[in-house]
Amino acid sequence: MTHLPSLADIAAQLETYDPQALPANEVLNFLDHLVSPVQDQESVDIFAALGRVTAQDVISPINVPPHDNSAMDGFAFDSAPLSDSQTLSLKVVGTALAGKAWTGTVNAGECVKIMTGAIMPSGLNTVAPQELCQIKSNEVIEIPAGLLKAGDNRRLCGEDIMQGQAALLKGALITPAAAGLLASLGVPHVSVVRRLKVAYFSTGDEILSLGEALREGAVYDSNRYTVHGMLQALGCEMIDMGVVKDDPDLLEQAFNKAAEQADAIITSGGVSVGEADFTKAMMKKLGDVVFWKIAMRPGRPMAVGRIQKGQRSAVLFGLPGNPVAVMVTFLAFVKPALLKMMGSTATPLPMLRAKTQEVLRKKPGRTEYQRGIVSRNAQGELQVMTTGNQGSGVLSSMVQANGLIVLSHQQGTAQLGDWVDVLVL
Ligand code: AMP
Ligand code: MG
Repeated sequence: MTHLPSLADIAAQLETYDPQALPANEVLNFLDHLVSPVQDQESVDIFAALGRVTAQDVISPINVPPHDNSAMDGFAFDSAPLSDSQTLSLKVVGTALAGKAWTGTVNAGECVKIMTGAIMPSGLNTVAPQELCQIKSNEVIEIPAGLLKAGDNRRLCGEDIMQGQAALLKGALITPAAAGLLASLGVPHVSVVRRLKVAYFSTGDEILSLGEALREGAVYDSNRYTVHGMLQALGCEMIDMGVVKDDPDLLEQAFNKAAEQADAIITSGGVSVGEADFTKAMMKKLGDVVFWKIAMRPGRPMAVGRIQKGQRSAVLFGLPGNPVAVMVTFLAFVKPALLKMMGSTATPLPMLRAKTQEVLRKKPGRTEYQRGIVSRNAQGELQVMTTGNQGSGVLSSMVQANGLIVLSHQQGTAQLGDWVDVLVL
C-alpha cells in the first residue's frame, strides 16, 4: 500500500489551520489532501456505464458521422454553378435514401433527390432543402438565386468526432449525452473507475429505526435516508449499517466492519463538544481522526480521518447529528471529496447570483448556508428568499428549498436587494 500522509502531516501543510474555528475553504483544502482517486477500473457496457466515471480517455475508432451526409430532405447538387442572380435549374436523376446510397454518376446540370442522413453522392457538396425548391416536374427542379452557398445542409464526415480523437477524457462523468456519444462510436464497452463503496450509519441512543415505536426523548433516524439519497445520486455502492447505539462494543464492531469493506465511512451524530457518548472515543481509538469546529452554520462539529483495517484504509466523515447540518456538510464537503475519490474531474456548476428578498443577518467569520427559494422577478432577475425557520434540525426547510444561499466567510449582513450566491440543489 502506498504511504498515506498522516492527518498531522496534512495539517502542517496548510497555511492556517485552526481546528477550533476552521473556515469552510480550509476544510475543502484539507479534504483534498486527505483523499485520492481509487485506482481500480473495470469494463462495463454502455447502459451500465451511466453515472460512472471514465478510467481512461476514450479514443474513437471511427469518424462520426462516418460519411458526408445530408442534414435535410431535399436535392443534393454541385454548388459550382450557383450564382446570386440566377435561378439554377437541375434535372433529378435519382434518389439517395438514408442507408441506401445513390451510386450513379451525376453530370453537370443534374441533381439527386436526397433524404436526411443519406450519404452525399460523389461530386455533390450542397443540399437544397425541399421547401426552398420549385418542383417543376418529377424530373426538374429550380433553386432560387441567393438563398444557398456551397456546403449548406451537408454534414461533414467526422464533424462530431474524428477517428483517433478522444471522444471522452479520463475522469468524465458518463451522462446520458456521453452514453449516447459512446454508442455513436460503436464501442459496446467502456473502462470506468470501480464504484466507490461507502458505508454509513447513524449513531445515538435516542435515534429510532423506522418501525420502532416512538418513545419520549427519541427521534426517528432521518440522516440515513438523506445520506442514502445523496450517495445514490453520486452513483456510490452503498453499505447501509443502520442505527448504532451508544455502546463501545457495538460502535467498534460497526467501524471495523465498515473499514473492512468501504472506501469511505459516513456517520452522523456524536461528534459535538461535550457529547456524553462513545462515538468520538471510538473514532480516536480506531483511526487517525481530527475533530473540528467548522466556522459555518449549520454544521459546526465534524470529525474527519482515516481508519486502517489490514491493507485497507477508509476515509471517515463524522458528520454532525442535526439533519440539516448533515445534508449541508455532505453537499459542501463530503460530495467534492467523494467525487475526487471516484476519479471525477468534472467542473462543478458555478453558483448563481440572486437578489435577496429579505435582510440576511450574519456576522463575518463563518460561512452560512441558508435554505432558499430562487425565482425570477418582474425584471427577469433571479431573486431568492429563505424558507423561514433556519434551525439546523428543520429538515422541511431542505424540502422546500431549491437552493442554498451561501454567505461567505468574510461577508456580513446582506441587505435587501443585495446579490448573494446560491448553490442550486
Ligand atoms: P448530536 O450531534 O449527536 O449531538 O445530535 C444533534 C441533534 O441531531 C440531536 O438533536 C439528535 O437527536 C439529532 N440527530 C442525531 N442523529 C440523528 C438522526 N440520525 N436522525 C435524526 N436526528 C438525529
Ligand atoms: Mg448525540
